[in-house]
Amino acid sequence: MSAFNEERVLSVHHWTDTLFTFTTTRDQSLRFSNGHFTMIGLRVNDKPLLRAYSIVSPNHDEHLEFLSIKVQDGPLTSRLQHIQVGDTVIVGRKPTGTLLIDYLLPGKRLYLLSTGTGLAPFMSIIRDPATYEQFEQVVLVHGVREVKELAYQELIVDELPKHEFLGEMISKQLLYYPTVTREAYRNTGRVTDLIENGKLMADLNLPALNPVEDRVMICGSPGMLKDLKRMLEERGFKEGNTVRQGDFVIERAFAEQ
Ligand SMILES: Cc1cc2nc3c(=O)[nH]c(=O)nc-3n(C[C@H](O)[C@H](O)[C@H](O)COP(=O)(O)OP(=O)(O)OC[C@H]3O[C@@H](n4cnc5c(N)ncnc54)[C@H](O)[C@@H]3O)c2cc1C
Repeated sequence: MSAFNEERVLSVHHWTDTLFTFTTTRDQSLRFSNGHFTMIGLRVNDKPLLRAYSIVSPNHDEHLEFLSIKVQDGPLTSRLQHIQVGDTVIVGRKPTGTLLIDYLLPGKRLYLLSTGTGLAPFMSIIRDPATYEQFEQVVLVHGVREVKELAYQELIVDELPKHEFLGEMISKQLLYYPTVTREAYRNTGRVTDLIENGKLMADLNLPALNPVEDRVMICGSPGMLKDLKRMLEERGFKEGNTVRQGDFVIERAFAEQ
């Protein structure tokens, strides 16, 4: 059996010149956990051109959704940004990754810290009922440069609290904190600075980050991961992985070349 499924594009939405979302059909046999990524791509000159992508849609959804950067000279995304409804996208059959609530020790609060397309895996985690059964509060932080890059804001703020099955949990337990670094907005500054100077917790009326109550997932640039990992370790947090539960888990939103 092939390692890939061929899926049909069902919708495409461009958020900005550098960011877009698309949905595809989902082979019924594809199984994944919320927070997983898989290899996806296009057939170019008869060969698969693939990159790692977090799955935005929760695993109970009938379709798949992805959030993508557009790198102008990027081998995949210079092409992928032009996909249209009806086109074929290749989707790997072996999703994997470390951003799973199963890899965290029990805790009171779950912080989901993201920048840019690092929001993607958290969009599935915030639509998983198990997240709200395991944690009393879920704090979704999304850092971007410009306000228009706050993808899914309307879904998070307006639609999810009214969701037929998840709405009650989401409206009581999910705190959403979007922050912008390059223009005026109600929250500004880098995620690392907002934690270091305590503004994030003060704004949300939460205690200082501590390993007794808090669990953390991080998905962002390699630089952001390095800084946050250091900050958490200084506060006594232990990193978890696929074989050992911890106080925090991390995943790169992309790799530097
Ligand atoms: C575990 C994992 C999960 C990923 N999930 C996603 C995802 O959900 N959505 C997504 O768009 N990308 C994601 N990526 C990045 C993705 O795999 C590709 O790098 C991206 O699609 C660009 O592909 P490319 O061939 O056009 O350019 P590449 O040659 O892969 O990348 C060129 C350069 O562009 C920059 N870049 C690449 N991706 C990003 C990004 N997402 N944000 C900012 N800068 C970037 C980097 O500097 C990189 O060196 C993920 C990467 C990893 C390792």
